[in-house]
This record gives sequence, C-alpha cells and structure tokens, in this order.
Amino acid sequence: MLYEISEKAIQLENQGKRIIKFNLGDPNLPTSPEIIEAAYEAMKQGKTRYSSAAGEKKLREELAKIHNVSADNVVVTNGSKWAVFSLMFLLLKRGENVVVPSPHWTSYELAAKRVGAEIRFLRRDLDSEWKVDISKLENLVDKNTRLVILNSPNNPTSKVIDEKTFGEIVQIANEGGATVLSDEVYSDISFVETKSILDFGTDNILVNGFSKTFAMTGWRIGYVIVERELAQKMIKLNQITTTCVPGFIQYAALKGLEFRKRIADEIREQFRLRADLACSILSKTKMRFSRPDAPFYLFPKVDGLDSERFSLNLLDRGVAIAPGTAFGDYREHFRIALSVPEKDIEEGLEKLCEALP
Ligand code: PMP
Repeated sequence: MLYEISEKAIQLENQGKRIIKFNLGDPNLPTSPEIIEAAYEAMKQGKTRYSSAAGEKKLREELAKIHNVSADNVVVTNGSKWAVFSLMFLLLKRGENVVVPSPHWTSYELAAKRVGAEIRFLRRDLDSEWKVDISKLENLVDKNTRLVILNSPNNPTSKVIDEKTFGEIVQIANEGGATVLSDEVYSDISFVETKSILDFGTDNILVNGFSKTFAMTGWRIGYVIVERELAQKMIKLNQITTTCVPGFIQYAALKGLEFRKRIADEIREQFRLRADLACSILSKTKMRFSRPDAPFYLFPKVDGLDSERFSLNLLDRGVAIAPGTAFGDYREHFRIALSVPEKDIEEGLEKLCEALP
C-alpha cells in the first residue's frame, strides 16, 4: 500500500496536480555544498573506478574512530537498506525467526520474508507510549530466534527506547542465542539522547547510514559495525552483488563526517520546528498521538479509522500519507512524514483534518 500511494502520487503529479507529500521519509533538504564539492573533487581526482568492496580505508578508519571500534569491524554498504538485507541474507536460515518490535519499518518484514525466515512481531501501542513489554519479548524469543531487530528512534513512531529497556532487550536476545541488529539511522538527529547498541558491547550489530543525518538519501551510502568474521562475509557479498559504493560518494561522505555535528544540528533544528508546528495543529483535533522524540514522523491514531481508505481519499485532495497498515497491524493509525516545508505542513494538515471522517 505504501508503494501504491507513492506511485499514485507521482502519477497525479505527472498529470499536473499538486501533491503535498507526507508519505516518504525523504526530507526536502539539500545535501550540504561541502559534500557535493567533495564528490566533484574526488571525481576529478579519479575516484571514478571500482573501489573496495569493504569501503575506502579512510572512510572505514574515520567511522571506526567515531564508534570506537577497529576499521576491520566497519563495512560500507549501498545504503543502510542494503545492509539490513545483506545481514538477513547472511544470517538467517529457513526455520529461523526474527523478532521485531512493531510498528516497524516495512523493509524488515519484506526482507525477512524474502530470505524465507519467520518474522514475529512484538506489538507496541500508543496507549503505553509505544514501550516494549519485556515479558512479551521473553515469550517470543525461542531457540530458533536468530535476530532481534531494534530501531530507535523508530520509524514510524519517532520514539526512542529507554536505556533500561534497551539493556534488557539485549540481555534477553543474547542469552537466548540471538543477535541484536540495531538500526540507528535516526540517532544522530534525535531530539533526545539515545542509546546505541555499542553501549552494550560489540557482540551485536550496528546499522547506520548517511541518508538521514546528512540529507543524502539519493547517494546510497550506509555502513555496519559487526564482528570481523561477519564483516568478511559482508565484504564477499558486496563483491558478488553491488561491487562497491562508488569511491567519489565515499569521499563525499567522509567530508560530511568533518561537519557531522553542524549538519546534524541543522537538520534536527529544522525538524524540531516542523514537529512543534505539526503537534500544535494535531493537538486541536480528535487525533491521538505521542510527541516525537526524533525527526521525521508522526504516527497518529483516529479511533475506528480505516487508514487505507483514508489515505486513498486524501490523495484525491492533494495530500499523500502512509496508512498504518504499512507498518504492521495498525489500521487506525497513519504516518505523516514531515518532509515538506512548514507552509506545506500547515496546508497539508489542514486538508487532512478536513478530510477526517
Ligand atoms: N532504516 C530505517 C528505519 C529507515 O526508515 C530507512 C529509510 N526510510 C532506512 C533504514 C534506509 O535508509 P538508507 O537510505 O540508508 O537505505
């Protein structure tokens, strides 16, 4: 349904209609000029040929320094999405299962199914502020659980897992023989402090990327921090699939790391204003929602709503959103991505409120 809405929104735009796109987590912010210049400079320097399947040495070293690990633990990937898929492909065998707190980013479910694994959802609800119920997790993890996937801050709720819960999840997973795959693509731009899987040792897996922190969604660069043996397997998989992330993109990303704090601060502040604006509009309606801990999403609930029908109707009024069913069993919810300027947020949310049944 998420992809159907996206396609229909594009079709309507091609017909000349104006669509306010709250459906995609692709911020309307430009990539910093320093990063663009660095890509161009690297191209001129000849970084246009095949690069290492592990990632450029300098980039791996810089990422290793940031995360306080060795460069051998870092593998650069074609976006964090590819990292998630590769890890599932390498780690999961038929008959094994993956546990994912829901609501969840659609790709975890699609990737797990694609590699033939069972996926088990740990339901969370708005009424309990989207908190993980540890006893439910204990019931879900069994001897066939290979991975527990965490995503804090979360897409679509923008909520963060607190330190105590994070630690308990890691302990339950690891004691049960499962590895935690922690997708932290929204961490650096979070409004609140977040915990990283690396705060709990280096036995688990960190997935991160440049898309969100550096407004580089289209550049397709991410990375993982994993133990050496798994790093070697990922490098081999890169060799037989994507070959490498283009060298000039890696050098652009490396330049981005120099300005990491400034760029992340700018994005965070932009999105804080957007989130405040959206929350103040939504709080005057019958929608129920939890204030986001991070960019980019709000995941409100309207009791009794069929969000799939609502999303399609709203598209005819020029606003695209993602129905809650795209993120698990959440028909009464929908996701609003604040990926448009403030004046469009106002206009789009006004139309959305008018269209509520
Ligand atoms: N993880 C999560 C939770 C996401 O929401 C997204 C993008 N929507 C990604 C990973 C993928 O990011 P990338 O562009 O690095 O592949």
